Amino acid sequence: MLELFDTATQKTAEIAMREPGVVGLYVCGPTVYGPPHVGHGRAVLVYDILRRYLEFRGIRVHHVSNITDIDDKIINRARSEGRDWHEVALECEAEWLATMDRMGVLRPQQSPHATDYVEQMVALIASLMERGFAYETTEGVYLRAALVPGYGLLSHQSIEDRRAGARVELDEAKDDPIDFALWKRAKPDEPAWRSPWGDGRPGWHTECVVMSLALLGEGFELHGGGQDLIFPHHENERAQAVADGHLFARHWMHNGLVTVGGEKMSKSLGNFTTLDDLLDRFDARSYRLLVLQAHYRSPLEVNPTTIDAAANGLARIDALVRRVSGVSPAPEAGSSASSSQLRQRFVESMDADLDTPGALAEIFEAIRVANSLVDSGEASSARTIADTVTELLGALGLVVGAHEVVGAQDSEMVARRDRARAERDFATADEMRSQLEARGWVVEDTPEGTRIRR
Ligand SMILES: [Zn+2]
Repeated sequence: MLELFDTATQKTAEIAMREPGVVGLYVCGPTVYGPPHVGHGRAVLVYDILRRYLEFRGIRVHHVSNITDIDDKIINRARSEGRDWHEVALECEAEWLATMDRMGVLRPQQSPHATDYVEQMVALIASLMERGFAYETTEGVYLRAALVPGYGLLSHQSIEDRRAGARVELDEAKDDPIDFALWKRAKPDEPAWRSPWGDGRPGWHTECVVMSLALLGEGFELHGGGQDLIFPHHENERAQAVADGHLFARHWMHNGLVTVGGEKMSKSLGNFTTLDDLLDRFDARSYRLLVLQAHYRSPLEVNPTTIDAAANGLARIDALVRRVSGVSPAPEAGSSASSSQLRQRFVESMDADLDTPGALAEIFEAIRVANSLVDSGEASSARTIADTVTELLGALGLVVGAHEVVGAQDSEMVARRDRARAERDFATADEMRSQLEARGWVVEDTPEGTRIRR
């Protein structure tokens, strides 16, 4: 079975399940104040691949990913544009969903909005006050982190070291530099909700702990996010759960970050700042393959050269599938043995902490073998291998062969058609179909949405 590295124990282990065969997965979602960037794309792909692989292994995944729709960044953007904060959040959420659809990721079964859970957040903070873990200041309510058993479990840093490194903002009034805000009292003209500690809004860490426990329950299986969320976000989510007497996530998974030109993906970095820029220039499948070619815990360099290399790999896979598309698969034992060997090695690699580079190395080796089989006149054996390659890559969300090279304009039309269908705007959906057909595509409807092939 799949063994995953756990950030808390720093060891690789199977996910402990409350009910055999069912995994509750909470992944921290976006703060909706701007377009998704390339780093968001990687994180979403990593958890999409994890979810698809668990499902491939027969496990049911309850995937929850939140939308943080109230935050300083949203308020600041709304203010600078003279707009309503809620309008900015809604617009950015729609943009996020449209871009994720372009990436071909499965939508989480539930995407809770922070603003729908404020009442439960206020209840949690009240309970933490009652238990003596939280205190009120002129700014709001803070959690006394040093009182929480195991504080530092995820970030592996002692309270003393953390205290030495902590920076206290000038406007913060708190007893200990490591304490963090649960409730922020509103400044004039800021959006605010009622609470016993004055009108204000919850802290970000309080949002995720409340939504994950509300939707996945006590001791849910797996909590994920980028490595940049380990501290303070996840450490502080856990601290509140523990202080309030809850069993929190059993297993913690964190994906590595994206670098662009060797630099951390954070500031403005030219054309690759937004994910849509990338998807306008490259096939979304190339980005998925690039993500698969790196281990999920390693940093990932994203630039035109690395994506081009992935696009070339994809072309090799597509070429084999096309090469044998008219051939019947072989019935004999020899070729199915190589297919079952491929399947077994693929599963072994994936089970070992999602070793996607290892799994892909097996696939590319099988492609090399299949091509030489075609060269030596054994095309039906090659077809059997190609079918297994298609199936295994499909299990990771990578559709091969059927697509040929899909340009940005084509994939945008597919996304527009799926959006139109979801909104029951059939006129636009039909219009997109005709345009795609005019561009030489065969358009098919599948449970995952529109699929196009030549
Ligand atoms: Zn979160």
